[in-house]
Amino acid sequence: MTTHATPDADVIVVGAGPGGSAAAYHLAHRGLDVLLLEKSDFPREKVCGDGLTPRAVAQLLKMGVDTSESAGWKRNRGLRVVADDAAIELDWPVLQSFPDYGLTRTRYDFDQLLADRAVAAGASLRTGVHVTAPAFDLAGRVAGVTAREDGRAVTYRAPLVVAADGVSGRLALALGIKRNPKRPMGVAVRQYYKSAVKHDDPYLESWLALRTADEPDVLQPGYGWIFGLGDGRVNVGLGVLNSSADYGKTNYRALLRDWLDATPEDWGLREESADGPVRGAALPMGFNRVPHYSRGLMLVGDSGGMVNPFNGEGIAYAIESAEIAAEVVAAALRQPNAPRREAQLKRYPELLSRRFGSYYRMGEVFVHLIGHPQVMKICTERGLHRPALMRLVLKLLANLTDSPGGDLADRIVNGMRIATPPLGRTRVRSASSAHRADDRLASFAERRA
Ligand SMILES: Cc1cc2nc3c(=O)[nH]c(=O)nc-3n(C[C@H](O)[C@H](O)[C@H](O)COP(=O)(O)OP(=O)(O)OC[C@H]3O[C@@H](n4cnc5c(N)ncnc54)[C@H](O)[C@@H]3O)c2cc1C
Repeated sequence: MTTHATPDADVIVVGAGPGGSAAAYHLAHRGLDVLLLEKSDFPREKVCGDGLTPRAVAQLLKMGVDTSESAGWKRNRGLRVVADDAAIELDWPVLQSFPDYGLTRTRYDFDQLLADRAVAAGASLRTGVHVTAPAFDLAGRVAGVTAREDGRAVTYRAPLVVAADGVSGRLALALGIKRNPKRPMGVAVRQYYKSAVKHDDPYLESWLALRTADEPDVLQPGYGWIFGLGDGRVNVGLGVLNSSADYGKTNYRALLRDWLDATPEDWGLREESADGPVRGAALPMGFNRVPHYSRGLMLVGDSGGMVNPFNGEGIAYAIESAEIAAEVVAAALRQPNAPRREAQLKRYPELLSRRFGSYYRMGEVFVHLIGHPQVMKICTERGLHRPALMRLVLKLLANLTDSPGGDLADRIVNGMRIATPPLGRTRVRSASSAHRADDRLASFAERRA
């Protein structure tokens, strides 16, 4: 194994999923020299529901992405919520702050498209680079990364590293930043099917009550989705939250199969119409990994547990956190000395907490409630027949309000948020104990590297 000379950058971004590519885009857009490292080669498959709410669309528009159908997107106009025999179609709200449409597109080329935006903005993308650990300077601060590339060990150096390496949180773990198991977490599986009936559905479909043909009276754990991709296929999946008694005990693939077998035959959601295997992954929610900044390393997206606990949406939050990180980094690098740079960087968790902290705390309560199927049953039975209430619920679940301003529903949701203390602020340890712990972690991580 050899180490060959590599170019330096102002910032290294690890992982070219939506969070990493957005971070690289926004950093490069601010004139910074950015190196974006990704272990896979594009295009590549990625386990996801492939659904984007208007919150995510707003972020794509900010990145200059053409979201027209002629550019390969399938637009949707809202959400259809289904529970047993009841269903309600809720259009996305008309707001000043967000567009009134959502999108679907498979991650197979969506991630490449975003990485291309980062490159067009000036970032350097290197694929096939498997980052193995942070590299530290003598003060124990992250000063780059070590990686495997073309079978060789390489080191890339930069004064700041953005970890956008997804749910595994490898870089965060190397600094001792672990997932908090008490915070919300989900597991979800998905499969593609060819479906002439459902592929062109103008609504994203969300199933709140899963039943199977064998046990129609039993409410199964979890929640399902059917998202039309507009290309003859649908993305179908289900997720179970860690607040459910069945979390970790459910055979998710079998449940998916049994649920779909109970759907109408002509939808085509049967084994013979499947397009590829069932795949699953974890959904890290509600800031389940903090702090989001430590010693030169910033966590963006899934690496910082930023999936919305209300609806399992992670792409919008990965991109938004990336934009906040880029703003903070750009401000920090303009500072004349290290202490002032560090003071700027420490604003990142604070800004994240301000944007999402109260909302995620409400989401945590929501996750506990819907972990009990009977609570969910009562809510859906009563709620689905009250369209005004459901429109408010949609705004809450999809985090779509105008603030300030908006209608009564916006003001109620915003009021709840303001009244809820935010998550995400970490307890401050005494400087000396923090320093000792940091030193231990740094030397441990260096030995591993
Ligand atoms: C079944 C399922 C369905 C979902 N459905 C939706 C949905 O419909 N809508 C939605 O908004 N969200 C959905 N999510 C959540 C969403 O997929 C994630 O929140 C989102 O991908 C997070 O983006 P990210 O950039 O933080 O991480 P990722 O998308 O996971 O990207 C991380 C990147 O880092 C790379 N990487 C990892 N380790 C290394 C390394 N050591 N070196 C170099 N590169 C590395 C990976 O290859 C990857 O490209 C779903 C998740 C699951 C599991």
